[in-house]
Amino acid sequence: MTEMTGHRQRRSEKAGQRGLRKVDVKMNDIEKMYESMGIDTEVYAYGKSVLEELEERFRAVDETADYNQLKVLKAMQECQVSEACLLGTSGYGYNDLGRETLEAVYAKVFRTEDALVRPQITCGTHALALALMSNLRPGDELLSPVGKPYDTLEEVIGIRPSKGSLAEYGITYRQVDLLPDGGFDYEDIEKAITERTRLVTIQRSKGYQTRPTLSVRQIGELISFIKRIRPDIICMVDNCYGEFVENAEPGEVGADMVVGSLIKNPGGGLAPVGGYIAGKRQCVENAAYRLTSPGLGKEVGASLDILRSFYQGLFLAPTVTASALKGAIFAARLYERLGYDVVPNGSESRHDIIQAVTFGSPESVIAFCQGIQAAAPVDSHVTPEAWDMPGYDSQVIMAAGAFVSGSSIELSADAPIKPPYAVYFQGGLTWPHARFGILKSLQTLVNRGLVDRSLLKR
Ligand SMILES: *Cc1c(COP(=O)(O)O)cnc(C)c1O
Repeated sequence: MTEMTGHRQRRSEKAGQRGLRKVDVKMNDIEKMYESMGIDTEVYAYGKSVLEELEERFRAVDETADYNQLKVLKAMQECQVSEACLLGTSGYGYNDLGRETLEAVYAKVFRTEDALVRPQITCGTHALALALMSNLRPGDELLSPVGKPYDTLEEVIGIRPSKGSLAEYGITYRQVDLLPDGGFDYEDIEKAITERTRLVTIQRSKGYQTRPTLSVRQIGELISFIKRIRPDIICMVDNCYGEFVENAEPGEVGADMVVGSLIKNPGGGLAPVGGYIAGKRQCVENAAYRLTSPGLGKEVGASLDILRSFYQGLFLAPTVTASALKGAIFAARLYERLGYDVVPNGSESRHDIIQAVTFGSPESVIAFCQGIQAAAPVDSHVTPEAWDMPGYDSQVIMAAGAFVSGSSIELSADAPIKPPYAVYFQGGLTWPHARFGILKSLQTLVNRGLVDRSLLKR
């Protein structure tokens, strides 16, 4: 079969060279493979025409990956990562060479004084809660100058009452929304800063909102503004989904703490759990005393058998992030051309790997997510449904056929079932998989009559 195809292909190439291009162009291997996996010729061809527009953008993504690959490699070499570092400890985990070296590598990569990188940090929310709770004291005030924080942080802060929230410990919260154009409301931010303001939280990524994601440069401008008013205010950046998307990270523009999840970008798809806090020595120390215990801090915390995946995942993270980024750009342009609202749009610059597509109806949101699930390497045969997920205030549908449960650096999509019915799509360990997943989502919409076939031909 393959040989036949090869012959035919060469013959038609020759015919093409002689100017005798055949009218009925034969399918090539990749098209046949796509067809065998349920993607119509029309959907495939539409995807291909979208890709042709994106060559230059993809080149820029590869350049960032080149830079960040070397940044990670350099940090590993300078910290003298050795074979012994890949082995773990048990029990108390004293003198864990691999854990200590990995934390030094993270500090170098994120250009901070120190870092806490632990499997005992269970997720991104936990890392953020830890950073906040360990650096705030009763009577302090927390300020978000970039609007509402990520849904799960509402309970951490106590915006939605919850057991153990910062509010229960007498830590108050204030928020200044972004201006309608997505810019910072400097006037109100200045007014919101009081003598009680101890910590400012800046979320880089849009999360479940349709506001633009902040660039590292914008974050730097905001931090400079805040530090001019009160230099002792701790500036924390929720860096979830932003790692390795740009050449610089927020630690380079003055952030005192940079916080994220290892089952997103920096784990490179290999870390099976974990979170990190990179930042000023004092802030990281406070976090360590809270994670383990006062007096023990960073000195304990057995790494068991997990360090190899943390190192190898970090090493792969720049190229994995690039794959996810290409997927996001492809999805943006593909759905934008069909007339949907997409954030960011198909041509603007990117500062995280999340792509929002507003479908305007629950049926389309569900079809999109079910298409992504059907493209997964794990659990492709199951159908995701909307459910009441803890930490969220509406039903949520999630597509995640991932090797690591809930990992969103792997091809995944989630959507709260509420207006404007936007889907948040992210991840893709490889670009070919991201491409296939997005085409599968479109195919599902086409199959259910939610996208008209005639639109694919324009
Ligand atoms: C994912 C995410 C979080 C929370 O991380 P979890 O690992 O899901 O708890 C917080 N903030 C942002 C911006 C995120 O994207």
